[in-house]
Amino acid sequence: MTTGPAHLHHRGTIPRLGRGPLPERPDPATAPGRFGVAGGPDTRLLAGPPRAEGPEHLDRHLDRLGPLQLAGRAPGALRAEVAASGLTGRGGGQFPLARKLAAVATSAGQPLVVVNASEGEPASRKDRTLLTLRPHLVLDGALVAARATGAGAVVVYLHRRHRTASAALEAALAERGPLPVDVQLVDAPPRYVAGESTAVVNYLDGAGALPSRRPHPVATRGVAGRPTLVSNVETVAHLALLARSGAAWFRTAGSAAQPGSNLVTLAGDVAVPGLVAEVVDPIPLGRLLATVGGLDAAPRAVLVGGYEGTWVDGEVAWAMPVERGALSAAGVSLGCGLLAVLGLDHGGLATTARLLAYLAGQTAGQCGPCLLGLPALAHAFASLADPGATRADERRVHQLVAAVDGRGACGHPSGVALLASSALETFHDELRLRRRRHAHPPAVDGFPLPATAGPRP
Ligand code: SF4
Repeated sequence: MTTGPAHLHHRGTIPRLGRGPLPERPDPATAPGRFGVAGGPDTRLLAGPPRAEGPEHLDRHLDRLGPLQLAGRAPGALRAEVAASGLTGRGGGQFPLARKLAAVATSAGQPLVVVNASEGEPASRKDRTLLTLRPHLVLDGALVAARATGAGAVVVYLHRRHRTASAALEAALAERGPLPVDVQLVDAPPRYVAGESTAVVNYLDGAGALPSRRPHPVATRGVAGRPTLVSNVETVAHLALLARSGAAWFRTAGSAAQPGSNLVTLAGDVAVPGLVAEVVDPIPLGRLLATVGGLDAAPRAVLVGGYEGTWVDGEVAWAMPVERGALSAAGVSLGCGLLAVLGLDHGGLATTARLLAYLAGQTAGQCGPCLLGLPALAHAFASLADPGATRADERRVHQLVAAVDGRGACGHPSGVALLASSALETFHDELRLRRRRHAHPPAVDGFPLPATAGPRP
């Protein structure tokens, strides 16, 4: 799909984060394995009508999957089924869902389920796509979560400005009529960190949607002190299928270490930025990019897991399996499932500088690393993308990465540090050319940033 200067194309391995090598795949473009887009035969969450038909209505949902039978199913038995499935959170944390369910169900107070649809990653579309196309699957999953925890109420925390998704969910609720639990929709604020679980709970408690250190996990003491399950839309939708088909079926997708299918969003230099695909078997990324991404060869690099994810060299990324377990073993998190492609015509340093400027502006400045460190890091990194960047500029970036990594009340500074440090490793050839005052490829346009982008004044 793209062409570009081969001398800029670093052939390397996963950056320093790697704990082990990724399994080699002989021919990524033709490797076997199931995956697909909405309406495709090799899908689970996205099975059903194609995207062009819009939201799946209740009658079709029931024709396809049958009714959700929860009456008579003991909450403990449901939780045991989830534990046997090995389902982990698909919002980024990859935390075992069964442990959260157990903590919520067994803690004092009236449990609450929060379906987190805020999807703060600017380029991610998977949760919005699920809400838009399969709203009844998400509602079924919320009912399973409520049953498994004993919750009598569900909050869907979403962006009203995503009108198509919001309207699809409201229409689905109207089709359902009375439900066994109260369902309330709450409009989430447009901030990168607003979807972090403590930020969600703080917002529902009437405070700002900002992360905070809490004395207890939200699963045991969350909204108004109630045990609160905060779970991502995709995770919840998996519950709808798991409750129908069981743990053994669930485990026939994914890997033994990370069972189940995964939704991914393609972004950047691909044929259709924002396209959501479902990976059922751990196929090589190259096959996905060749089949639905419009690429015919490895790109310059891929940003894996979100804007606070890991830059991976394009050749390495082409062969790497889209599978949470193998990626985790190599030190890379699939996170929210974002796979943002940097083509050979575009520059990694300039693109990273643009993302860092955005991320530095997405905090409330509550903690030192965000108040001072992230803006300084964004500023220093921008200098690396200028002509004549020096080794001193590079050293300054390394110092700032070390200064913010692991600091603050939430993972935001560490995520920003990961983005910057993986860029330094993956794009070291660009740095060398920069020091020689060579012309430099520009940032890619296809990594969207909301209108609020930019550092705080
Ligand atoms: S580390 Fe940053 S984003 Fe996280 S709570 Fe503190 S100020 Fe907010």
